[in-house]
Amino acid sequence: MPVTMTPASISFDAGITPVTDRFNDVYFAKGQGLEESTYVFLEANELPKRLSAYKQSSGVERPFVVAETGFGTGLNVLNLIKLWQSIPVGNPQATLHILSVEKFPLKKADVEKALQVWPELSSASENLLNQYPPLIEGNYQLHFNGNVKLTLLFNDVLSGFSSLLPVPSQAWFKSSNQCVDAWMLDGFAPAKNPDMWSQDLFNLMAQMSHTGTTLATFTAAGFVKRGLQSAGFKINKQKGFGKKRDMLTGMFKGLPSSKALPPKKHNSIDKPQFWPITPYIKPPRKIGILGAGVAGSIAAVVLAKAGFEITLIDRSEKALAGAHQQAVLFPAFSVQDSFLTRFHFYAFVQALAFYQQYFPNALHRSPLLQLIESGHEKKAQLIADRFNNDELIRLITATEASQWANTELHLSALLYPKSGWIDPQKLRLGLTHYPIQYCLGETVETIHYDDDWHIQTRTQQLGFDGLVIAAGDNSERLLQQIDPNLALNMGSIRGQVTHIDQKGLPSLSSIVCHEGYICPSTQTGDYSLGATYDLNNKNPELEQQAQQKNLTSLAKHLPEFQQLTKQPLDTRGSVGFRATTRDYLPVIGPVPTTNSLIEKYKPLRYNKNAYIPIINDYYPHLYLLSGFGSKGYTSAPMATKMLLSYLTNDFQPLGADLIRATHPARFLIKRLIHNKA
Ligand code: SAM
Repeated sequence: MPVTMTPASISFDAGITPVTDRFNDVYFAKGQGLEESTYVFLEANELPKRLSAYKQSSGVERPFVVAETGFGTGLNVLNLIKLWQSIPVGNPQATLHILSVEKFPLKKADVEKALQVWPELSSASENLLNQYPPLIEGNYQLHFNGNVKLTLLFNDVLSGFSSLLPVPSQAWFKSSNQCVDAWMLDGFAPAKNPDMWSQDLFNLMAQMSHTGTTLATFTAAGFVKRGLQSAGFKINKQKGFGKKRDMLTGMFKGLPSSKALPPKKHNSIDKPQFWPITPYIKPPRKIGILGAGVAGSIAAVVLAKAGFEITLIDRSEKALAGAHQQAVLFPAFSVQDSFLTRFHFYAFVQALAFYQQYFPNALHRSPLLQLIESGHEKKAQLIADRFNNDELIRLITATEASQWANTELHLSALLYPKSGWIDPQKLRLGLTHYPIQYCLGETVETIHYDDDWHIQTRTQQLGFDGLVIAAGDNSERLLQQIDPNLALNMGSIRGQVTHIDQKGLPSLSSIVCHEGYICPSTQTGDYSLGATYDLNNKNPELEQQAQQKNLTSLAKHLPEFQQLTKQPLDTRGSVGFRATTRDYLPVIGPVPTTNSLIEKYKPLRYNKNAYIPIINDYYPHLYLLSGFGSKGYTSAPMATKMLLSYLTNDFQPLGADLIRATHPARFLIKRLIHNKA
């Protein structure tokens, strides 16, 4: 799992201005933080003028990206958001993306206290605090009104920014569509914190910039000026804020011909097995989404909100037709550090914030207990210790667990105090608030590409310039209509959920997970419990045996529910099919053209470590969102954020290792390595 971070140790000068103990420096000018932020970072980067021009421009092809070194209290970021929000909306697709890195994040309570003095920022700061991530290393994407994304990189400055580049940074400059438009360099004073101001950082900034990218910083230190110049920035000195004599501004002019030393290796991307980046292509306007399950529906909402024209297509008569009555947001943290556990961790953290913002009525917040089988307590303690964050997860005794659940439990449990479940009916109602067109009750008969994507359903012919396949366990079959060689080897797992009447049973106050799960009751007074896990069973009808299995497993772990096994079997419930992959990670991203991939990457057949620094070809704006297994509701918000980034030539919300681990090309790459493609 990702590592827990050391929070900043701070005090408040005169009870107001935060001061760091570690570097013995202030976060911003005493009593004038907001004015300083506006002068040094916004005005010196000419952001009022540039953001206005960008917001009014007709052809928006990527977000406007501002990157900051040192998030601190968030003052600069909130001030920037306020500026953006004050500019009238011109182009609805205009998006501000802020990247901000922080190695010693403040505790939430300290951020709250530091920001209290700026009532003019209160709406954005409230939003920030509601989404403020746990102090655990990694990338977190937060959202603000008016198409604003903030990707918080809780990491050291070099590892944080490098994590965004899925190819080595030197190659990035030449091959990528994503770049930073303005830099706000705000580490503590270079003399007090020299680690923040290294030549490696300046070179990395150059690799992530375009000619015209600006920078501004409060410092005028000579080595900072020279370092930035040698990386390719033209630097000016100008009057500093308040009593400060000088500060620096700059503009990137291109990599110097003598070429500054490339940045050192800061993560494992120096020789990636494949480059998960696509050639530049203008974002589409009209997008068809095949599949109105949870991934398709959430994608429809997010993309519609981002200004795309969306049509949601499904053979069922309604969206989320295959949904169970309740969908648990299941965190499943683990001691292992794998792509799988990390993906699920970040996805879970973001899912709660996402549903709160987009579908507050569908989200039922609830604690979640994961019962620990006897003999596994030590492992559970290790998991809790790893996070060292009681608000996120902690190990509790059986007695405490019984109190949390309001029913007798005989096992200790990992408690996730802040989890929840989703009511898919309310989610479906929530969809009506967004401008989505529907094409329901229509089975897709053919898909082909001919300048545009053409979909033939039973009764309609539809055309799009972008297509998203989010059809669960049917996705692979649809894809193979486009490219018969595309083998994802996905499986389908049948899950049956049983519904029981709550009457006469304890009133649960937590979700309880054992081999299966039970949710607190719905408004109609039903409990949902399940789910079975049946590979290769295609039966869409309820099976008695599966009902029995759900009830027996529940009674074994929650003794007060034992009476259910002695009564005639309940006949209510639902059946769903989950699409899974061989590595249990979802498949998110652009679809490669298999012939070119097999050709370009063929050296992998003979040498699995072959370094092949090339960009593959992809089908124009064809994306896949599938393979979520039983975690569709938990993972779909993250998957959708990733999809939006792919569509808009934007930086991804997760580190590049996870982008590669979930990329649709990975299966073919694996097959090549095993010489099976
Ligand atoms: N921009 C901030 C604000 O609006 O509140 C103030 C930033 S403060 C002057 C500098 C920040 O840089 C601190 O929050 C500090 O923890 C962070 N920092 C220092 N060294 C760092 C490093 N090596 N990597 C990432 N962040 C670092």
